[in-house]
Amino acid sequence: MKIVIIENPRPLSIEHYNDVANAPLSASLNSGYALAVARRAGWDVGYLDLSASHQSEQTMAGQIIAQGADVILVHWVYSWGHEATVRAVLARVKREQNVMIGAFGLFPTLSRSRLPEYAPQLDFIIVGEFEQTLDDLLRSRENGDRPMAVPGLAHRETTYAARDVIDDLTWLPVPDDVGANCDYTTMNIAASRGCFGECSFCFISGFYSCSRRRERSVSSLEAEIEARLQRRRIDQLYFIDPTFIGHGATQRDRVAAISGIARSAAIPFGFETRVDTVDKRLFNLLAKNGASSVFLGIESGCDSVLRRINKKTTTRQISRAVHCIQESGIPLTIGFIMFEPDSTMAELAENYDFLEDLGLLSDHELTVNLLYHNQIVLYGSESWNRFEKAGRLLLDENLPFEAGYRFKHVAVARVCRTMRLMASGYFQGMERLRGKGIRQVDDAAINGVMKEAFRECIGIAENSSEQYYHHREELFLADLHSLLADSKG
Ligand code: SF4
Repeated sequence: MKIVIIENPRPLSIEHYNDVANAPLSASLNSGYALAVARRAGWDVGYLDLSASHQSEQTMAGQIIAQGADVILVHWVYSWGHEATVRAVLARVKREQNVMIGAFGLFPTLSRSRLPEYAPQLDFIIVGEFEQTLDDLLRSRENGDRPMAVPGLAHRETTYAARDVIDDLTWLPVPDDVGANCDYTTMNIAASRGCFGECSFCFISGFYSCSRRRERSVSSLEAEIEARLQRRRIDQLYFIDPTFIGHGATQRDRVAAISGIARSAAIPFGFETRVDTVDKRLFNLLAKNGASSVFLGIESGCDSVLRRINKKTTTRQISRAVHCIQESGIPLTIGFIMFEPDSTMAELAENYDFLEDLGLLSDHELTVNLLYHNQIVLYGSESWNRFEKAGRLLLDENLPFEAGYRFKHVAVARVCRTMRLMASGYFQGMERLRGKGIRQVDDAAINGVMKEAFRECIGIAENSSEQYYHHREELFLADLHSLLADSKG
């Protein structure tokens, strides 16, 4: 029997350029794990990556049908407004082939109460952590025509029963290296799953249905690195764990041991971690062992906002962690939610000063991400329920499972709009320059105009007329545009 794993079409447009940051990085390994689980269960496997496809629905459906699979499993992440295309492709496949179609991943998990109605071609949805459920499903499918009642499987003919997360992660096979991952010289890998944090905007706990972090054994990780290094050449490892480091001395020792493995293989590595796990001695060791990047989700420079989003960290902890990383010399990138939906103008100003004091607004690539980040609201998430109840959800008929929200303060919405336009202008301009092979830009001037726009907008957004505000906004956009247009190769 054969299963084919499909990446749903989701060509990225400039409007969604920044939204990618909302997707948990762990999704990049989902298809690789699904393929490896299916092969271990004795099935033939196929893989089709339609994520960047602009082909017609007919062509995509034809490619899927040509796989001749008994089960089609769609790794449906986001669709960036292409939901109807995914549905149409599945409908064509269903019309022309008698095949069982399912979906797995973050999006089907969150939207499982509405997705079967939207895409009735789906026979089942695997909810949350999928490997054990998929293994059970494939083994039971070999014994009969329809899926049996498998925990974790949402299916029209059976009552849904939740499945516990996998306790022993060494049960997992080595994931296949497939899709867009293989275009990069960085290899994504997971040393743990889940997070003990409960940040209100995050999907990790919702996906796993728990706030528990589970680590795999260091020896199984080492074996995976060895096996995957034989498949392809890479120049960096990236640990996609929601928080690579846990709390306490044992966790620090574990991470030190993992960094030792990377060092022995002479491969630099990057990772993400929580502010409250940053330790000076450990980071100095990680730097020595080849740490080449760290992503820190600091989210805000205001304690009031950190409390609102349930981050369970303070600005003092953030400053200490950022300084510690800066001193270690490991390049730092930051996750930041400048425009939290209930933000006040005073909080925006506080955020700006905080970032400036930490020296984080000196590089335009980082500045643009810090001064504008779009928090998207996904159907089925806590934020969706909250904004819907408060009458603040902004629906768009082209995006059936995504929404915006109404800011609590109109002036904050104004500044957010300006920074969204600045960020889009920046991304589009940089993309154009890259397309022309131009690499040299006036870094300081571009960074300066982004910062100046933000500073001036928070100064005038509350009290100026729409006409005057709009006029200033246009001037900043024009400045940015001409700086990018003046760049030479
Ligand atoms: S610390 Fe990061 S991964 Fe953990 S819940 Fe918060 S945002 Fe999510």
